[in-house]
Order: sequence, then C-alpha cells, then structure tokens
Amino acid sequence: MNHELFLYNTLTRKKEVFIPLHPPLVGLYVCGPTVYGDPHLGHARPAITFDLLYRYLTHLGYKVRYVRNITDVGHLEHDRDEGEDKIAKKARLEKMEPMEVVQYYTNRYHDMIKKLEVLPPSIEPLASGHIIEQQQMVAKLLEKGYAYESNGSVYFDVEKYSREYHYGKLSGRKTEDLMTDSRELDKQSDKRNSLDFAVWKKADPQHIMRWPSPWSDGFPGWHLECSVMSQKYLGEQFDIHGGGLDLLFPHHECEIAQTIASQGKESVQYWMHNNMVTINGQKMSKSLGNSISLEEFFTGRHKLLSNAYSPMTIRFFMLQAHYRSTLDFTNEALQAAEKGFNRLMEGMNNLGKIKPSAKSTIDTTRIEQGLYEAMNDDLNSPVAISYLFDGIKDINSVASGNESINATDLNKIKEIYSIFVFEILGLQPEKDNTAEKGLLSDLINLLLNIRIEARNNKDFKTADRIRNELSALGVEVRDIKDGFEWKIN
Ligand code: ZN
Repeated sequence: MNHELFLYNTLTRKKEVFIPLHPPLVGLYVCGPTVYGDPHLGHARPAITFDLLYRYLTHLGYKVRYVRNITDVGHLEHDRDEGEDKIAKKARLEKMEPMEVVQYYTNRYHDMIKKLEVLPPSIEPLASGHIIEQQQMVAKLLEKGYAYESNGSVYFDVEKYSREYHYGKLSGRKTEDLMTDSRELDKQSDKRNSLDFAVWKKADPQHIMRWPSPWSDGFPGWHLECSVMSQKYLGEQFDIHGGGLDLLFPHHECEIAQTIASQGKESVQYWMHNNMVTINGQKMSKSLGNSISLEEFFTGRHKLLSNAYSPMTIRFFMLQAHYRSTLDFTNEALQAAEKGFNRLMEGMNNLGKIKPSAKSTIDTTRIEQGLYEAMNDDLNSPVAISYLFDGIKDINSVASGNESINATDLNKIKEIYSIFVFEILGLQPEKDNTAEKGLLSDLINLLLNIRIEARNNKDFKTADRIRNELSALGVEVRDIKDGFEWKIN
C-alpha cells in the first residue's frame, strides 16, 4: 500500500509530500492553550486536529515527539503588547495566585480534552519554566542587532529584519503594506515602529508575574516562548509546527522572524493550521454570549444548546469536517452527528457478531484503499468517514444475511475498522449516559442555587451543609465572582 502522506504547508500554500528530517523520528510542535479560562470549543479544534495528525503519523510507524506548550505568562489582552496579562487579570479578579490560576485551568483543559480522547503530548512545557532560555534568546537577538532596548523593554526590530528577510511570508502579507498600515504610533510607546513586538517587557509596578533580567524586572513577550521551547525540545530544525489559524498572524509570523534572526535559518519544514469554529454562523466571543465551554456542551448547560452532546459527538462532528474548513456548530448539525456516530458504533457492534462463510461477496480492499488515500490526502477525515460508512452498509448486509464474507476477509475488515475508528480517528463507544449526566448536573446546580439563596438569607448553616455534603459525595464546589463552579472528583 502506498503511504505517501501529503500535508498542506501554510508556508508554501500547497500540499507537499511529508518527508521527515530524521526518519523514523518526527518533531511536532503545536501551540497550546493560554490557561486563564474554562476550555471551550475553540480549544477542542486544534487539540483534535493535531491529535489526528499525531495518531496517524504514529500509525504510519513514525516515532513522534509531540510538544504542546502551555502559555502561562506574557499573553496580554491585546495583541500589540498592551493591556494586562490575561492570567494576572484572572488572578486579580478571582483573588488567586497566578500559578493557582494556571494549575486550575491546566487541569480543566486536561480533563476536558481527555474526554474528547485527545492523547497527551510527549512534552508539555510551560512558558514560565523557560524564562532563562527566553532571556538567552533576547540577548542573542540584541547581539545580532535584530532587537533594541528601550526603557527597560526589548523589541524586535521588524524594519531591520525586513531588509534581509520577508516579514509576512507565512500569512502572505507584504512587509511594505504592513509598514504603511501601521505608521501611527502611540506617543507613549517605547517602540520605533508599531510593527515591532516585545521580546522582553518591563513590568509595571503592579504587575505580579515578573523576573529579574539585565534589562529590567519584567517578563518575556508572548511570541518568544514557542521559538525557544520548540528549539529546546526539537532542535534548530524540526518537521511540523501547528496551531489555529488565529495564530498565523502575528504569533507565528513573529516566531519565524525571531528564529531566523537568532539562528540565521528557518526551523520549521511544514506549517499546519486548523480553521476556526463558529456557533450558529457567528464567531465565538464573550460579548456575543456564545462562547460555550466544553463542559457546557457535555452537560447541555447553556442557553444556546437544546440538549447535552457527548464528547464523542463533538469529536465525531469535528472529524466530519476537514481541519482546514471552518466548522459551524448548530443544534441540528450536532444532532445529525450524534446519529451518524451511533450508526457507526452500531455497525462496529454488528461487525463483532458476524460469522464467517465459505466465500465473500463483498470487496474489503476498496474500503481499505479509500481510507488510506483519504488520510494521505492532507488528513481528509470526512472522506475517510464516508468510506467507513460505505463499509458499514456492507457489514450490515452481511449481518442481515444478504451478503457473505469469508474468515480471512472478516479478520481483515475487523482489523481495518479497529485501526481507523479507534486508533486513528480516536473514536470510542460512549462510556456513559449523557441524559443521566445532564440530569445530575441540573440537580447539582439546583442545590447550589439554593445554597446561594440560603447564604443571602444569612442561613449559613444550610449553606455550609449543602457544600459539605456535596463535598462528601465528591463534588468540589468553588465560589467565584458571579456564582459558583463545581466539578466531580
Ligand atoms: Zn505558539
């Protein structure tokens, strides 16, 4: 079987045959989450996309070192090095220590994507654990003249870089256009040009997350961590860098510039980007009230959801679209995905019950070939799923006695389905009953709302009793600004 894998490379804007630098090793770096809020649908798409890639490469026999970082410092509210640190802000609002915020939401992220059958990466580095390495890169950029110090902060000099290299090549922008678009510079700014980005930022007096450095007490710029951690764990050159399309500019563009400026050459062979999700045709955002967390999907606890959707429904729905297409979440589409997933699992169930006959009347090689062709064509999971459904028709015909299959073919098809459904697509039969879980979560919310009422009426005895008895049952309750959060331990 031909296993030539083609991947779409964002940098060259075409599908290219995947040839690793050091086979059978493959270095894969994916930009992970900034951990300051509950994981939502937007987190699930890159997690599932690169899980599919990781699983498929592993199936093809590669030994993949998969690095997915956790951003826990330096990601400011606005892209252009402005605003409060997202984690520090959350810590201030919730009266928590920043690392407490980081740990809490990292755990939440792990819990939620585990439910989606996303495998853990080989290494999961934290930006705050690599401050020294980031300072070393800042020093190197200064030494090579691609960065300048200004008032305790250090900025990357985009204009200087652009004289030798193309800033904007990944996102397909012309540097001149970017330059003219960004002339007006705030008088307060320490930057020479507004396109310049911070690699080290001097901390304001009230800024909590800070480290000493030769330039100031401060913190690294957000883009720096990925250049540094990919190089540390995968070397100066590695195979694949992935992330969401929203990171293409400026994050990945800046990563390329920093890397090339510091080591004189490109590090990434293939850049891959998953497209975005929308909800009822709209971009997800807090202001539109349509930012639905994964937990809300799993429990149905959001006003836009007509019912709960299981993790496998969400995963299957995502895999039914190609990772480079946008994907719109609606109740109708999710319900259709749920039916489709159940049909696939029923087919798998029927496959387990089939008894072999003396001869085969169905063709198993066509399905296998189709599955590999689809996956080798830039991970075309929707086409792969359509081949699985074609095969399910055959399986159901055999199960109902209209067709027959011999022992060799039966074993073959069992193997193909096990590999593609479980191993590569990462789909698993549902473990629990979502309707019951929805009811359970409604009951817990009911109790916790009664607890708030009791507390408002100064009936602390009842309020404490509800909290303590829930805790004894393994339900951990946490009070937050506008109410409560809970999880089952
Ligand atoms: Zn990154």
